[in-house]
Amino acid sequence: MARVARSFFPVTALGPGRRLGVWFQGCPIACPGCMSRDTWTADGGREVPDAWFGDVWAAASTRGATGLTVSGGEPTEQPEALLALLRAVRSAAVPPGADPADVLVYTGRELEDFEALVPGGLGLVDAVITGPFRVAEPTTLIWRGSANQRLHLTSDLGRQRYARFMTHRPDRPPIQVVVDEHTVSYVGVPRTGDLVRMEQSVRTAGVKLGRPSWRP
Ligand code: SF4
Repeated sequence: MARVARSFFPVTALGPGRRLGVWFQGCPIACPGCMSRDTWTADGGREVPDAWFGDVWAAASTRGATGLTVSGGEPTEQPEALLALLRAVRSAAVPPGADPADVLVYTGRELEDFEALVPGGLGLVDAVITGPFRVAEPTTLIWRGSANQRLHLTSDLGRQRYARFMTHRPDRPPIQVVVDEHTVSYVGVPRTGDLVRMEQSVRTAGVKLGRPSWRP
C-alpha cells in the first residue's frame, strides 16, 4: 500500500516530454517556504494498493507518456511503495514505436541517503534531483527550487535525455496550472515571488481561493 497526494498526466513542467506525475504523501523535512505543505502529513492524501501504480502508468503510457516524475511529499519515506512504482514502470512494455520512458525522482534528501533508504532504487531511475528546498538560496536552473539542489544522472538514458538540462536556465520556469472542481494546482518549480504573483492574478480574475498549500 502507498499514500499518494495526487497524480497527473500530462506533466510537462517537471522533466522533459509528457510525463506521468505521482506525488507521494508525507514529508518530515518541513522546508520553510515549501510550496507543497499539503503533502506533509503522513495520513493525508489517499491510500492506494501497489497495483494502482501499474494501472496509472499503463493509462499514461497508452496516452503517450515519455517518462515518470515522482515528487512529494518525500518519496523515501515510503521506500517499499516507491520501489513498487519504479518496478511497475520498468517492467511495463514499451508501446510499439515509442522510446523507453525515463524516470525522474525528486527527494529532499541527499543522494547517499536515497541509496541507503531505498536500496536498489538508484538502479531503477534515470535522474534524481536531491536536497531540501532552501528559500534563501534561489536558483534559475530548470526544475530546481534552490541552488543547493543537484540533478544527478544515474543511467545512460538519463544522461542522454537530461545532460543538456544540467545548466539550462530558462527565461521563465515551466509551470502548468491544473484546475479541477475544487482545486487549482500549480505544477512546476516556481521562482521567488511567482506564487504570490500567480495568486494575485487568479484573484484579480475573480477566482475565490481557499488557503494556498504554500502558506503556513
Ligand atoms: S520542499 Fe520537498 S523536501 Fe522540502 S518540505 Fe516540501 S516536500 Fe518536503
